[in-house]
Amino acid sequence: MTVIQDLEQGLTTQSLTADVCIIGAGPAGISLALELARARPDWHIVLTEAGGPQNASQTERDIYKVSLGDKSYGVLDVSRRRKLGGTTAHWGGWSKPLDDTDFEDNNAWDVPAWPITKQEVSSHIPRALKWTEIDSGDFHVNSIRKTHNGKLLPLRKDGAINEQLFRFSPPTRFGDKYYDELKAQDNLTCLLHANCYELVRDGDKVTSAKVRPLNGNTLEVNSQTFTLAMGGMETTRLLMNLRGDKSADGEGIYSDHLGRYFADHFGVRPGEILAPEGLKYSRFGDQSGPIMPVLTFAARDIRNNGEHNSCMMLQASAAPESLLAGYGGTKAAGFYASQYWHYSTQMIIEPRPNPTSTLTLTDERCALGLRRMKLDWQPHEDDFASAYRLFNALGDELGQTGLGRLNLSRPNSNSIRENVSGACHHLGTTRMAADSRDGVVDSNLKVFGQQNLYVASSSVFPRYGYSNPTLTIVALSVRLAQHLANKSEVAA
Ligand SMILES: Cc1cc2nc3c(=O)[nH]c(=O)nc-3n(C[C@H](O)[C@H](O)[C@H](O)COP(=O)(O)OP(=O)(O)OC[C@H]3O[C@@H](n4cnc5c(N)ncnc54)[C@H](O)[C@@H]3O)c2cc1C
Repeated sequence: MTVIQDLEQGLTTQSLTADVCIIGAGPAGISLALELARARPDWHIVLTEAGGPQNASQTERDIYKVSLGDKSYGVLDVSRRRKLGGTTAHWGGWSKPLDDTDFEDNNAWDVPAWPITKQEVSSHIPRALKWTEIDSGDFHVNSIRKTHNGKLLPLRKDGAINEQLFRFSPPTRFGDKYYDELKAQDNLTCLLHANCYELVRDGDKVTSAKVRPLNGNTLEVNSQTFTLAMGGMETTRLLMNLRGDKSADGEGIYSDHLGRYFADHFGVRPGEILAPEGLKYSRFGDQSGPIMPVLTFAARDIRNNGEHNSCMMLQASAAPESLLAGYGGTKAAGFYASQYWHYSTQMIIEPRPNPTSTLTLTDERCALGLRRMKLDWQPHEDDFASAYRLFNALGDELGQTGLGRLNLSRPNSNSIRENVSGACHHLGTTRMAADSRDGVVDSNLKVFGQQNLYVASSSVFPRYGYSNPTLTIVALSVRLAQHLANKSEVAA
């Protein structure tokens, strides 16, 4: 069997039969396809990818065109790629599993968090680390404390500030890295320039996916099971297109949750701190690979006070602000210039799931005939308020321990709130829930009300934390592969 076929070179057949058809070959789709093909050598897996190995043409990129509501989304054009390997052609490799509190409900919010435990995701993190080529799975700051003691603040155990640790993928470009493995997997067919534009349904069952190159004929993939792995926005769009003219008062593709809670991580830089020299709450090298400690709220404050799980990085800054200059080098205050540095703070904010932050369909259609989308991105006011409380909590900690001082140079304001830009993480619009009244997919990632339609994407995240999403996306794909492989009725 030829396992990688480029439909732009012409069709050799008009239909294919599969046990599982996966649509979209980014990190979610590629890891799912290869895990599944290896777990079930008796199955035929078809992976259909809209792009090819090269960068998309202007005509292909036009398919992603989205109109915007009142708020700009500065990263709109760069936040998605249409090529084999998906957006990992672009990603930075920042990686970290979600924290314990990310899986817990925030009582101040109106929607539940994850319907599965942290353990149900973290048991698949070791495989996800392999896919993303991260050598160490140790995400505990305490493990590096001895070796890098002077780079970390001596924080109080019961204080308001905690620390967490990021690691980094090289970053793995999934299209390049796994091309040969896709080609070598003889129970897997990977179709390139295979834009999925329609799912054919019989009642609550999808029977086939129609795919085609932009200027060519249709190939129909008949399959027992389908997984959408087209990235958070396109997956949501295909599901909304499936709804047709039916109303959004049902479940799954008819759920009012579909397209709501659109979120992306974003940052603010509230000000500067004066603190001991040599702190490294930014990326640096360790014998286990590059790492980055960050500062967060203590879990207690997230749980008891409904704080968001946001984080702070510090960057040594050459130009001290005036207030800090007053302290820096002031012998009486104890802050000797040679021993204290100025740092600017950069935060990554956990967005609160906000139902009025939406992707909706417009009447305009793209070259594939799919209705286009409008993005109305609305970060919640609470996102900022909580982030500034975290900044102040760091100030209190520095003050109480005598470790330093803080200067709020950019207070929370309309202008700060209006000018934030995203981090290219498309979260929340097909949220996972235990009950169809709270989300779009169930805890096995199956679309509610559909027999054989699944989603592999960060759009299923019901609570977002601050961790970049790809490691968790891949862990969820590994988990989904295991679920489908063990599900006997998937096979023909
Ligand atoms: C500049 C930048 C930096 C980033 N940095 C980080 C980082 O440091 N850490 C991190 O965790 N994340 C980062 N990300 C986000 C990361 O790239 C995404 O989380 C990840 O790629 C999502 O994986 P995915 O497989 O769900 O979607 P994608 O990677 O977007 O893949 C979706 C695939 O589906 C295909 N597709 C779309 N429509 C169709 C269709 N109709 N038919 C068939 N196929 C289709 C696309 O061509 C694409 O190949 C970054 C993103 C950007 C843009």
